[in-house]
Amino acid sequence: MAEQHDHQHDHDHEPAGDAAQPVKVVGEEPDLSKGTARPITVFGNPVLHREVKDVTAFDGELSALIDDMFQSMYAAEGVGLAANQIGVDLKVFVYDCPDDEGVRHIGHVINPVLEELPAGSRRVLDDGNEGCLSVPTAYAELPRPDYAAVTGVDKDGNPIRVEGTGFFARCLQHETDHLYGFLYIDKLSKRDRKDALRQMAEGTPRYATVPNA
Ligand SMILES: [Zn+2]
Repeated sequence: MAEQHDHQHDHDHEPAGDAAQPVKVVGEEPDLSKGTARPITVFGNPVLHREVKDVTAFDGELSALIDDMFQSMYAAEGVGLAANQIGVDLKVFVYDCPDDEGVRHIGHVINPVLEELPAGSRRVLDDGNEGCLSVPTAYAELPRPDYAAVTGVDKDGNPIRVEGTGFFARCLQHETDHLYGFLYIDKLSKRDRKDALRQMAEGTPRYATVPNA
């Protein structure tokens, strides 16, 4: 997922100057001596438009994929990245994403499943501006529940559950959707979707992308 883009949040994220405090971090920063950034697949590439495969092998290759995914996400200045966004047919996503309370969440989830929220508990974000590295330079308003929880496993196969609020909840939903073949623009009205694709056609990404055949 792309960084926050709406003005309200841009303002929130200006450096706090003298009042700057250490940001609370949940998770561990990746070892950036490992891995290589790969180009990002974009709208129209078949790997983004179908469900990808469950991970069944928890080995060095999987660890290396996660390293590459963090490198690719940082190179593109994203806050979340799904494996099919670098062309890999496996259910893995990584994130380094702030929530609305200024907490920075870092990690990965393998074979994620979004938890169903209890009926009646769905709260919706009002200022939901969303973007995607695979729909470069486009942004659109998309209301989402402001709480999400994902269950899955880590790279060693141990069960994990990741929950988040605000912008991080948006990220968890966005990245899980990727692995089931959905982009955020698939959730927009026909008109907004068309507008997002127009923004993409008119813009130039600031990172390497995979040309579509
Ligand atoms: Zn995305």
